[in-house]
Order: sequence, then C-alpha cells, then structure tokens
Amino acid sequence: MSVWSDMPMGPADPILGLTDAFNKDTDPRKVSLGVGAYRGDNGKPVVLDSVKKAEQLVLDKAMNHEYAGIAGVPEFTKLSLAFAYGKDSSALKENRVAAVQTLSGTGACRVAGELFARFRGEGSAIYVPNPTWGNHIPIFKNAGLEVKKYRYYDPNTVGLDFEGLLSDVQVADDESVFLLHACAHNPTGVDPTRDQWAELSKLMKAKKHIPFFDCAYQGFASGNAEKDAWAIRRFVDDGHSVALAQSFAKNFGLYGERIGALSVVCNDPDEAARVSSQLKIVIRPMYSNPPVYGARLVTEILSDDALSLEWSGECKAMADRIISMRTSLQGHLEALKSTRSWDHITSQIGMFCFTGLTREEVLKIRKDSHIYFTEDGRISMAGITSSNVEYVAQSIFAVTG
Ligand code: PMP
Repeated sequence: MSVWSDMPMGPADPILGLTDAFNKDTDPRKVSLGVGAYRGDNGKPVVLDSVKKAEQLVLDKAMNHEYAGIAGVPEFTKLSLAFAYGKDSSALKENRVAAVQTLSGTGACRVAGELFARFRGEGSAIYVPNPTWGNHIPIFKNAGLEVKKYRYYDPNTVGLDFEGLLSDVQVADDESVFLLHACAHNPTGVDPTRDQWAELSKLMKAKKHIPFFDCAYQGFASGNAEKDAWAIRRFVDDGHSVALAQSFAKNFGLYGERIGALSVVCNDPDEAARVSSQLKIVIRPMYSNPPVYGARLVTEILSDDALSLEWSGECKAMADRIISMRTSLQGHLEALKSTRSWDHITSQIGMFCFTGLTREEVLKIRKDSHIYFTEDGRISMAGITSSNVEYVAQSIFAVTG
C-alpha cells in the first residue's frame, strides 16, 4: 500500500500512444503514419547535412555549459525573428518585438497561453480552428484559458470553410485571441489562399482581435521558408499586434532538441520591453531557462549565408519528397480504380494528409494491414516511402473500395 495505490491509469496520448502500439506490433508489414516526424525514403529519421556542419562548428568552439538567460540565447532569438518576420521587417528594425526562446513550439504555445491568461484574464477565450493539432486544447486549457473553436474545415469540400471562418471571427467578442496555423495546417493540410488571409486580416483588424500564429512548419509547406511566412508578414504589415510561436523541430529536424521561440509584436520598444519582462516572469518558475544546444545549432545555420542556403535546399528536398509521395499515393489509388476522389491528397500541403477516412475505416486498416495513423483519418505523409506507398494505397483501397 502506498500513497499512489489508488492512482487510476490515465489514457495514452492519442498520437504518442499510437507509436507505442506500433512498436509492439510484430507484423513485418507494419507502417507508422502517426507522429509528424520526417523520414527519408528509407523510412529512417534524417539529420540534415547543414545541421551536421553546425554541430561540428559548435563542437569546435568548445563552449561552456553555463545557463542561458531566462529568455534563452539572444543571438538565436534575433535570427529566429528575422527568419519569420523577414530580414527587412520594420517591426524588427524599430525594435518593437518582444521575444523569448522556448521549449520548441509546444513551449511557445504554453508560455503564450500563460501570458494571455494573466493579461487578457483568467478563463478568457482563445479561439482555435476546428479541427486543430490535438495538443493545442490541453495546452491552452492548462494555461487557464477557455478554448473555443472556430469553423475551419469543411468535410464536404475537403477544403476550407472560409465563410464559416469569417462568420465566427465576426461573431466573437472584440479583442479575442485567435490561434492561426501560419502554414501547413495540422491536421488538415488546408491553408487559406493569400487573398483569404488578406481578407481575414482586415476583418480581424476591424474586430481588434489578437492573431496568435503557430508556425511549426515554416519551409515545409512550399519548400520555401520565405513564402511560408507570407501570412505572418502580411498581418504585421497590416498593423496587428501579432503573437507568434515558432518551432524548429520539423524544418531543421531538431525535434528532440526542443528549440523554438515566442514573440509578440508591440507598438513601440517600451511596450516590447514590458511584454518581455512579463514573459520572463512567466518562464522563471516554469523551467528557469531553456536548453542551449538547439539554439546554438540554429544560430550557426542562420548566421552563415552558405549554411543557410544549404539548409534551404535540404528543407526543400524534404518538402519535395513529401509532395512526390502525395502524387504517388493518389496515383496508386486511382490506378486501383477507387470509387472515391483522392484529389485532396495532392491539393493539401505540409506534412499531413487529412484523408477523409472514418474512424471505423482507420481502425480496420490498423487491424488488417498494421498501418498506424490517428482516428481522425490524418496520415503523416512523411512516413510514406517509395517502398510502402503501394501497400498503403492497397490497404486504403481494401476498406474504401
Ligand atoms: N504546433 C503545431 C500545429 C504542431 O503540429 C506541432 C508539432 N506537432 C507543434 C506546434 C509543436 O511541436 P514541437 O513542440 O515539437 O515544436
């Protein structure tokens, strides 16, 4: 008998639990399409050459292991901001962006949630798209916010419900926080067009809403990090006080290094200094200060033109491999004379494909073919390779016809 004897078993995380189930499966045909982590065409994790070079550079510097400040490695944060907002961003030139290094994108969302709860009011609303990355909901709830959903995805068109989105933005109380996926929406792979972003920006401005961009895939959507930052930059140009969560997990392949940033565009340097001070007050009792290794790697890459160029080529190669797997998966399903349209596989972008498969179909594919992906029908395209794409197509076809 211990104090923990009555502790109930908690449910497994819907995505990470899937990996456990996959690992336990002994069938040789098994395929993992759950977690959004990039794999090469050999199905193995990839360490980018630009990252390997950065590792060597860091090693050569024989740096010490002192603590970073509460806000992290300043050089990293500066480069991270230029990466997202653009080197010529007027907000950066005017020194009015408050920023801290965070524990990847998850940490950035959590710190932002805490800031909103403190300064927009405990229990105030944050609007997230329906559907959204599953972890957004507990992150913001645990930070003390009320999570509300806005319309985003239309299952009938397998595309964006733009009218529904605009109407929910219109109806929300003025000055509400809206979480927007900057590019490569997870889980749907459906993004607004540039015209739609511009219209949304205008309406959000009229409503004085606070746009909070979650940018976990910059470079992964189109293969070009500048293009993928378009929406963020447009909102800043339109004069919004944008908040931004950045992750370098996917685009730099630095998943486990937990490297990201949170920033808030302010009116002037004085306001930015005050926001910065509050971010540090949120962070200090949570984890004191962030780890330095990932920050050092990203700093080496983004501060060196040749390495940056090499990185962009590698990022594009990852995006291109995913795009070619989309074409291949759709092609195989069509060749099997599937009765369903699979056009959305190639029209959606980013790491995921929202297949439209029902929960029952997903579970049947898991049982019959040992292919693991989430019950909402989301497939991580990064797990598809030229060796398994035909098997995945056949397995989908076997349950959908
Ligand atoms: N936001 C979105 C939309 C994501 O898909 C992810 C990764 N799955 C994250 C944030 C955060 O990931 P990480 O904490 O690994 O950067």
